[in-house]
Amino acid sequence: MALIVQKYGGTSVADTERIQTVAERVVSIAKEGNQVIVVVSAMAGETDKFIAFAHKITEHPDEREMDLLLSSGERVTSALMAMAIQELGQKSMSFTGRQVGIITDSSHTKAMIEEIEASRLKIALDEGKVPVVAGFQGINEFQDVTTLGRGGSDTTAVAIAAALKADACEIYTDVEGVFTADPRIVPHARKMEKISYDEMLEMASLGAKVLHGRSVEFAKKYNVPLVVRSSFSQASGTLVTKEEGSMEKIVVTGVTHDKNQARITIMGVPDRPGIAASIFKSVSDANINVDMIVQNISNVDHATDISFTVSRADSKKAFDIIRKVSDEMGTKGVNMNPEVAKVSIVGVGMQSHFGVAAQMFETLARNSVNIMMISTSEIKISCVIDEKETEKAVQVLHDSFELAKQ
Ligand code: ADP
Ligand code: MG
Repeated sequence: MALIVQKYGGTSVADTERIQTVAERVVSIAKEGNQVIVVVSAMAGETDKFIAFAHKITEHPDEREMDLLLSSGERVTSALMAMAIQELGQKSMSFTGRQVGIITDSSHTKAMIEEIEASRLKIALDEGKVPVVAGFQGINEFQDVTTLGRGGSDTTAVAIAAALKADACEIYTDVEGVFTADPRIVPHARKMEKISYDEMLEMASLGAKVLHGRSVEFAKKYNVPLVVRSSFSQASGTLVTKEEGSMEKIVVTGVTHDKNQARITIMGVPDRPGIAASIFKSVSDANINVDMIVQNISNVDHATDISFTVSRADSKKAFDIIRKVSDEMGTKGVNMNPEVAKVSIVGVGMQSHFGVAAQMFETLARNSVNIMMISTSEIKISCVIDEKETEKAVQVLHDSFELAKQ
């Protein structure tokens, strides 16, 4: 008897018919003698609908209230899914994040799971029930509802699989696995049979939204075998697993893109020690993550320009903070470009190959894509470009590195 955690994303539970189809899949796995825990997302479109409601009322919704609002979408699906499973003659019970003891920190709208006290899940399994857990949510130490950020139901599933030492964690979505690029942009992208945790982590954090970044971190840390597959077919999907020898030969594994980016530039920053520290401290104090940073060479009047990127969602907040800080410092002004995107190539084999960066820059140049910022690590190279060039950039990079072939 195996214990399997299955997570179904928004498109897979978009309406009651699809919920019934998923219930059939769940029940057939259970009837084979397995214990199954189901984690569900909100029905497709629900979360955006709630966000739109909030923005009709206020420009700056309170984040605690936002979390309670958004967490309700997953609850709706979990109750409907439990009913659909019961209707097929299988015992089932729905649970909120709180009811299964998912404890997070207090950073509302992007909380991190600290602990899972899964006793109710174990009892339900012992009673022969299929627990259906509302994904994406937990509670903090004050018992307030928190949410885990967009895509966070993946992390709920992996964290539960880790806590209960499940035999497998399956992420069911609307594509057949992890591809060499988003198949919606590169239709001939290739589905990978396997990908290492490290590469998947990098792809997820660079915009491949097929898995939530934190879910991959959990899977790696607790060695949870993770499979991404389609809820619309029986295809075997992609296994996310430990790095193996055969994987290392591949120089570039995939191309990712992230349109959720904005660039802020501070002009004429006085060139003194400690200036950068005070700029970035003000941003991090507001819980905003800064990604790439570029500082140009000081010119004659000992002033520099500093550019950095933040997520588009945080950009207004960051811009207001920076404007205040730079007034105090006496800079020459601040500007923001909210229409930038990041394209990246990822691959563990990159570290032992020369010329990968040059090939990326040449390919973009040949196709008239201007590079605004660059950052590299051992296993990735990222370029910030004009958002309008995103699709073209992903396609030409995918072709240049011949990713459809490998
Ligand atoms: P779910 O609601 O099931 O969690 P998501 O929309 O979060 O689904 O993630 C699936 C989507 O991720 C796909 O529809 C696809 O467009 C997108 N995607 C982006 N990059 C990739 C990639 N490299 N491989 C597969 N899918 C990708
Ligand atoms: Mg998702």
